[in-house]
Amino acid sequence: MSAAAAMPAPPSGEQRGFGGPPPPPPWVPKTELGRRVHSGGIATMAEALATGLPLREAEIVDKLLPMLHDEVLDVNMVQRMTDSGRRFKFAVTVVVGNGDGYVGLGRAKGREVGPTIRRAIDRAKLTVIEVFRGCGSWECGCGRAHTVPFLARGRSGSVVVKFRPAPQGVGLAVGDVTKPILRFAGITDAWGYTDGHTKTTVNYAQAAFRALRGLSELKVTDADRARLKIVRGAIGRSILPPKEEGAPGGFRGGRRGPGGRGGPRRGGPQRGGPPRGGSTGARAPGARGPPTRR
Ligand SMILES: [Zn+2]
Repeated sequence: MSAAAAMPAPPSGEQRGFGGPPPPPPWVPKTELGRRVHSGGIATMAEALATGLPLREAEIVDKLLPMLHDEVLDVNMVQRMTDSGRRFKFAVTVVVGNGDGYVGLGRAKGREVGPTIRRAIDRAKLTVIEVFRGCGSWECGCGRAHTVPFLARGRSGSVVVKFRPAPQGVGLAVGDVTKPILRFAGITDAWGYTDGHTKTTVNYAQAAFRALRGLSELKVTDADRARLKIVRGAIGRSILPPKEEGAPGGFRGGRRGPGGRGGPRRGGPQRGGPPRGGSTGARAPGARGPPTRR
């Protein structure tokens, strides 16, 4: 019985201790941008990004975007052989966003899922971009910032993702992997088109993120801005539900968690189906052949 009492907690990695992780130590900024944000000299994410200073501290984003949500897009088990046998690592891809014009994508690898997710979240925070939104569709004209203002195109590896402006009410007619990326950015309507090996979730997500990033780097004329009702960054209203307390970076009730081993999304069926005239989503289920050549 004393042996049992002396047993160390099982190193399951997910839940250590009883009260969850200890509270983080107070933030001591290490970078110029961090110091300015910490002192209150910079009060919004728009100001922080406008400085052009490198964003290297996740705490900056924590302070300026307190309503940031995160979601695990992919948990993938990678293994390699060593002298002593197989070594497993998890590769985690995470999206963060406030549902109102700011979104980031991060990836990390590690032996334990929980800490790796937290690192991926911190990395995603450092990639946060200011998204352009508008009422870009001539079919709509509602004047609200609900879709991409122009065609957005991004590429990663073999995967090319395009988002096209859609009228209000269309919803996110895009592949399942990219849905949270758009939603976290605050976009509610878009048509998506993909090409390449979209079963590689990492590239798929990265291509979608790059599409939004490319959009945010465009120079927009005042005339376009007025005509397409383009807004940059936040409009002060998130499309995401209020964030539940006390669950930063963990799995949310297993909805998106790695239910089994390996990636939950890899090879999974993509719901939603292709929109009219598009090729969003998966090709034929289970198709593993090379992407069609164009
Ligand atoms: Zn509209």
